[in-house]
Amino acid sequence: MTNLTRRNFALAGLSGTAALGLTASATPASAAGHAPANPPAMFDAPLGRYRITAIFDGMMPLEKSLFFGAEQAAIDAALAAAGVAGDGLSAPVNTFLLQSDDRTVLIDAGLGELNMFGPGFGRLTAGLAAAGVAPEDVDMIVATHAHPDHIGGLVAGGAAVFANAELLISDVDHGFWSDAANMAQAPAEAQGMFSLAQHVFAAYGDRLRPVAAGTEVAPGMTLELSPGHTPGHSVVHIDGGDRQLMMVADTVLYADLQTALPAAGSDFDADPALAAQSRARIFDRAATDGLLIAATHVHFPGFGRFVTDAGAYRFVPASWM
Ligand SMILES: [Zn+2]
Repeated sequence: MTNLTRRNFALAGLSGTAALGLTASATPASAAGHAPANPPAMFDAPLGRYRITAIFDGMMPLEKSLFFGAEQAAIDAALAAAGVAGDGLSAPVNTFLLQSDDRTVLIDAGLGELNMFGPGFGRLTAGLAAAGVAPEDVDMIVATHAHPDHIGGLVAGGAAVFANAELLISDVDHGFWSDAANMAQAPAEAQGMFSLAQHVFAAYGDRLRPVAAGTEVAPGMTLELSPGHTPGHSVVHIDGGDRQLMMVADTVLYADLQTALPAAGSDFDADPALAAQSRARIFDRAATDGLLIAATHVHFPGFGRFVTDAGAYRFVPASWM
């Protein structure tokens, strides 16, 4: 299995549009070719007017060396306390489906066909099918940011997967990844991410809707900025009546480490200091207000709470069936 470092983040298949299978000559991947070997992993629960379903897209191998911003001994101790031995750790890619009487909303879409982390990704489609949702049934997708493990599943064989869905993303992230000058200044290993983002934006055409922070994108569902991981990285607050949920996306990449050491950032953060500020703010608000949390990379199904613990925080998995 390929472990992920900043270096092979590029080499693993995102160094250009050809590697992404986005060029006209690329052979469209068949759906069958990406069918998951395992049955879909899903978990659903009521959330006010919605039903929220966590759908597992695949498992990312990571390395301890991705994390920095705290004493190495403290990082080692926090990971050891979480049962992580050696340099390898792994984190899921979770996506979230919200269904009400009249809305079918998907928050993020996993990695799809992209072969960055080895096999076993692209399970979202089978998960949706198991939930009785065809791709054309999805009427809105909220992309928390334009990284490949969140938007890769929006396209297949060069075309939009969700033919009837509006694609919403923070206007800040949309502006950042669309900007030719930003792309020209970015290091070689980031070029593929710009190409992918621009390809996805184009594939959704006039169904792409960049939105400002604070926008209520669907009833009770509000996009808020949590910047640093990317410039317009966003979280989604869902008012579920007696349950208030925050989908925090990559505000937390590895909860066992970053709750104990909120200052610990990762190589994936565009601005680690700003990301740490955003993380601290979300932890404080979540603990103070008792928010339910849903997170992309927290152990599946990714639901829980952040509680204060000895001057830092701890993630407590939740079940509220
Ligand atoms: Zn991510």
